[in-house]
Amino acid sequence: RVFVAGSFNVDHVWRVAALPPPGATLAGQYASGPGGKGFNQAIAARRTGAETAFVCALGPDGGARMARELAAADGLVLHAQSSDAPTGTAGIFVDADGRNCIVIGAGANAALEPGFIASALAGLGEGDVLLAQLESPLPAVAAALDAARAAGATAILNPAPANVAIDRALLDRAEVLTPNETEFAALLARHVGERIDAEAVAGLDQARLHALCRDLLPDGSVVVTLGASGCFVSHPEARQRGDAAGHYRIGAEPAQVVDTTGAGDAFNGALAASLALRPALAFGEHVRFANRYAARSTEHAGAALAMPHLPAA
Ligand code: ADP
Repeated sequence: RVFVAGSFNVDHVWRVAALPPPGATLAGQYASGPGGKGFNQAIAARRTGAETAFVCALGPDGGARMARELAAADGLVLHAQSSDAPTGTAGIFVDADGRNCIVIGAGANAALEPGFIASALAGLGEGDVLLAQLESPLPAVAAALDAARAAGATAILNPAPANVAIDRALLDRAEVLTPNETEFAALLARHVGERIDAEAVAGLDQARLHALCRDLLPDGSVVVTLGASGCFVSHPEARQRGDAAGHYRIGAEPAQVVDTTGAGDAFNGALAASLALRPALAFGEHVRFANRYAARSTEHAGAALAMPHLPAA
């Protein structure tokens, strides 16, 4: 089974010709739907066929109803802490070139408590996989990773979004760390003292990437997602799980790209699900599946609702 602890947002999206300057009033095409990294990743895991539970906090409102209805429709088990704060929201402007501007109202997501996480994850066991991100309070993220490790489950930390600074103690709780290029660059600057442009990450040679990953997370595996360049995997020498080498690149799967929003979420959900569903496979096979799943997810517009139905097993 997969347990995802994280955020649920109602995304309000306005498509506009150009992003608004201060003081402007303009017309746009509006749509709303579910979002939040936690929810997106939980839906992705579920749509690969894994039994999946989603642990979050919701407000007393229509957003919470949306979360419950969508979770039920996908067969996602929901453990929702009730909060007086409104359900999380995101206001998103997207211009004609696909550039965006996003404001997040964390709302109930900011109220998620370590104690609620611990009780919701009491059922974790060996062979399960826990996946957390950084759109929840850091004590709650720490509690989720601790619960996984204590239960002998695999603890995956997707250190997103990049602007959330985490300390060494939280980083070290991850057994598998899955930054994208921007998040990787931010973590390197903070924890390794290396300043590398996010745009330069995909171009680094493998030995250099491997050394950086080892310095970043000495005892865990690092999977750096590289957008259209696929991903890079680095294992600590002592814990290679049957892979021929301790580090390798996997190129992106060809895709008819329509919208890459949520590609990272697709990747993380699919990686967690594959690890839970097929424990006998080598780690690299799980990453290959995640890479394939994420490529498929870019072929449809949207995030959670655009996650493909693609069984891992
Ligand atoms: P994020 O959405 O967090 O920015 P990335 O852009 O690194 O994450 O994308 C995550 C994964 O999605 C990549 O590792 C890759 O597997 C897949 N992906 C992203 N963009 C493409 C693309 N243009 N073609 C094929 N796969 C892609």
